Amino acid sequence: MLVMKKLFKRKLKLTTLFITLIITSVLLTTVILLFASYQSEKRSLTDTYLFLNYSKSDKIGDSVNSLFKSMRISIQETTEFLQDHPDMKDEEIQEHLELLRSNSRYFNSLAWIDETGLVRNIAPATVGIKGDYITGVTKEVVNSKKPMLTSPYKAPTGRMLVLMSEPFYDNNGNYRGIIGGSIYLHEQNVLNEILGNDIVDQNGSYYYVVGQNGVLLFHPDTKRIGETVEDNPIISKLVQGESGMQRVTNTVGVQMFAAYNSIPEIGWGVVQQTPVAYVDGLLKKHIQNLLLTILIPFLILLIVSIGLARGLAKPFIHLADFVNQFGSDNEIKTPKFQSHWNREADLLTKSLIIAINAVEKNNNKLVEEAMTDSLTNLPNRRKLNEVMMRLATKKNLFSLVALDIDHFKSVNDTYGHQMGDEVIKYLVKTIQTIVKEKDAFFRFGGEEFVLLLPDTNSEEAYIITEKIRTKVASSISPVGKTITISLGISEFPEHTESLDDLFLFADKALYVSKSNGRNQTTIWHKELLSN
Ligand code: GH3
Ligand code: MG
Ligand code: MG
Repeated sequence: MLVMKKLFKRKLKLTTLFITLIITSVLLTTVILLFASYQSEKRSLTDTYLFLNYSKSDKIGDSVNSLFKSMRISIQETTEFLQDHPDMKDEEIQEHLELLRSNSRYFNSLAWIDETGLVRNIAPATVGIKGDYITGVTKEVVNSKKPMLTSPYKAPTGRMLVLMSEPFYDNNGNYRGIIGGSIYLHEQNVLNEILGNDIVDQNGSYYYVVGQNGVLLFHPDTKRIGETVEDNPIISKLVQGESGMQRVTNTVGVQMFAAYNSIPEIGWGVVQQTPVAYVDGLLKKHIQNLLLTILIPFLILLIVSIGLARGLAKPFIHLADFVNQFGSDNEIKTPKFQSHWNREADLLTKSLIIAINAVEKNNNKLVEEAMTDSLTNLPNRRKLNEVMMRLATKKNLFSLVALDIDHFKSVNDTYGHQMGDEVIKYLVKTIQTIVKEKDAFFRFGGEEFVLLLPDTNSEEAYIITEKIRTKVASSISPVGKTITISLGISEFPEHTESLDDLFLFADKALYVSKSNGRNQTTIWHKELLSN
């Protein structure tokens, strides 16, 4: 029974097991799905932003390049113009430069510096260095006699600037210095006019331009213009003339998806970059949306699965419930066969019902056997107790007769035990011609018998027992002569309501019959107690 109980508990766990298994697999699938989606979305977003940035930096690079080509052409045209007009007066040259500067808006200032370093003309005149001799980088440019685009440097006026220059010669082939156009990095200039002011878009992406030595020429943070950037892998690559894209930590420690394009013609580079945090934010939103989308199907799947799991386990739990009854003292009810959707459960139920029926049949047979005497086929003492209890609980009147063969020992002694058995069988058959009810005549043990006579008082019982006694006394037994019997009667509930006493009283009456000479019947009465 203990095993069965354990089995039952295990069956209950089956549902939990199913549900746990389903929840785990659904959860695991979701996590894998989310993870895979996260990975692929991350890769795709990273690629998208890197390529977008690359194409934008490329476009900006192209714009800057073509701008500088135009700027160079405009300076070249000026040198050609001066060459073609050697007789131009100082005011005319000044005027020409002024006109060119304000029309093209390419340069913050435009100057003719002659071969000695003397500033012959400068537009606008407000720069105030006309007639001065320049030194430093500007002087080196003059001395180089080559077309130049300088790195940013600090001019004698104190301004950070970039100088684009073109040497020029007079018709006699004499070097006459340079026409130089300067871009003031910290002031309104052609770069910020062309590249615009709102260079940081809503997702935090921005671009900047670096010059030959990694100096910032254009940057959303204008304070940083003119700064030489070190420790930035992208700028190192740009300085070497490379283009590409990569994830990078910028100078202020922010992670960026950056693309960079060098402009080989002028040795500058453009960087366009998007904060990694922005892309992470998009990813987070994507995962949130995905979660929201799969939440309802997930819940439905879960509920359906739990329902299925319960359905699957139900027939087994049903069986386990039934099997568990074996552990209780209650009467076991054989389960009615219910068809299940599960073939195994059906088979199991059927087998169980067959097994239970077989066990029950076997049990009944054993009980029957245990309550039957094998020599006479009469119900035995056990059965007697059962029947008597039944009668007593109904509080119905009945009589109990105790019956014993007289001097039976001498039958055994004279004719042998086997003949004794034959005599017992013969006696039973003889009595059964008078007492026909199956549950009325019992073999109590040895050569003692009991009669239970329902709805019969002791006087009526006496009439019956006398009939029996006289019949026995007048029949020839297997040993070739008559045997006699002695009997004692007690009555329920008239004599006593105690079954033990009822036996005692019938036995006492029987004893009286024996001592009064045997072959007689005695009804119990109070006076017998004193004997
Ligand atoms: P009484 O008139 O006082 O009853 O004398 P008795 O000899 O019948 O009584 P006792 O109780 O002394 O002996 C009963 C004998 O019955 C003893 C036993 O050997 C015999 N006996 C009991 N059961 C069986 C049985 O099943 N078969 C046979 N052959 N003999 C049995
Ligand atoms: Mg006896
Ligand atoms: Mg006897």
